[in-house]
Amino acid sequence: MSRLLDRFLRYVQIDTTASDSATTYPSSPGQLVLGKLLAEELRQMGAKDVEHDDHGLVWATVPATNGKSKPVVAFNAHVDTSPETTGKNVRPQMLAKYPGGDIVLPADRTKVIRVTENPELAGLIGKTLITTDGTTLLGSDDKSGVAVIMEMANHLLEHPEIPHGPIRILFTCDEEIGHGIDHVDLGKLAADVCYTLDGGGHDEIDTETFSADLAVITVSGVNIHPSIGKGRLVNALRAAGTLLDRIPRAGMSPETTDSRQGFLHPYTVEGGVAEVKIKCLLRDFDTAQLVVKAELLRTLAGEVEQDHPGTKIQVQVIKQYRNLGDGLAKEPRAVAFAQEAHGRLGRQARLTIIRGGTDGSQLTERGLPTPNLSTGEHNPHSPLEWTCLEEMEDARQVLVELVQVWGESRK
Ligand SMILES: [Zn+2]
Repeated sequence: MSRLLDRFLRYVQIDTTASDSATTYPSSPGQLVLGKLLAEELRQMGAKDVEHDDHGLVWATVPATNGKSKPVVAFNAHVDTSPETTGKNVRPQMLAKYPGGDIVLPADRTKVIRVTENPELAGLIGKTLITTDGTTLLGSDDKSGVAVIMEMANHLLEHPEIPHGPIRILFTCDEEIGHGIDHVDLGKLAADVCYTLDGGGHDEIDTETFSADLAVITVSGVNIHPSIGKGRLVNALRAAGTLLDRIPRAGMSPETTDSRQGFLHPYTVEGGVAEVKIKCLLRDFDTAQLVVKAELLRTLAGEVEQDHPGTKIQVQVIKQYRNLGDGLAKEPRAVAFAQEAHGRLGRQARLTIIRGGTDGSQLTERGLPTPNLSTGEHNPHSPLEWTCLEEMEDARQVLVELVQVWGESRK
């Protein structure tokens, strides 16, 4: 486990914060630094086809040990970290044999990882926890996933007696700003199934994500100097305000829903008297409900047009991503074999859903079934982020079992 720990500590100290405002790909140079290091380490451990490509993505193969006609299994993690909290000068803090209780972070004592807010801590007494010093994020999202995949590859290359089919490894960039798979060529990956290692805690398999659309609502008015506005000026802001007020909140907003409920979430407004643009997220686990939600927006827009004569309201719906579960249904082995891998380790996997999307949602939609697996992440994107070494080791063991389960099956 110490090699896994060393890897993790090595990777998190490279600043790979994604940048929303960058015009380059990847959006920050640190992602190239980490990618280069990963490619070097993969070569050193004997992986094949190692490539750090022009976009900063890292590709590699762990060759089959039991014949090449087996399904090809890919593993993916992202090297970037969220721009919501800085990832510069990460100073990971080790807590060997966690004694229980709240954890005060040393460089900012106002930052406290509380047991009340992190009930999973109660199950991790005696384990090795890694936190930040309170001034940065940790980057366990998703360097835990990177370290786990690297350690799995290293383990398999050291143990050619473990029977498995061909394994592909892919590390992507800029996942946190929505560009994780922009440059992923599925033909080049040539995998039959893929797993993202980007999940919380341990022993969870994320089998569903939201289906997601974005509505861009354009409210048009008529601007004219207010001094001569009577009967002529039509204020788009007032109509936009009415519309926002009428989008239902109870049972239909992120602040009033959980588990399998979907929502409408207006999240930005910009504009003035002549025109206002509102962006609104549409989310639901049932893809068909996105149409119902879009219709509701259109109905409300029509009513507001009536109540604010002279305004025009246009609702444009842009497709974002689709529930992972829709595509996984076509390859039930993706989840079943992950459950089997946990079972062989004497552990029971929990099937979970994500109130958001993963790169796996898009890969699955493009035809590569890609559930998401636990990799020890907790409180991502925050200075209160932490991880547990034993949970990362659990994930590595799951992967080693999983490739053997796939190695026993047919294409
Ligand atoms: Zn992530």
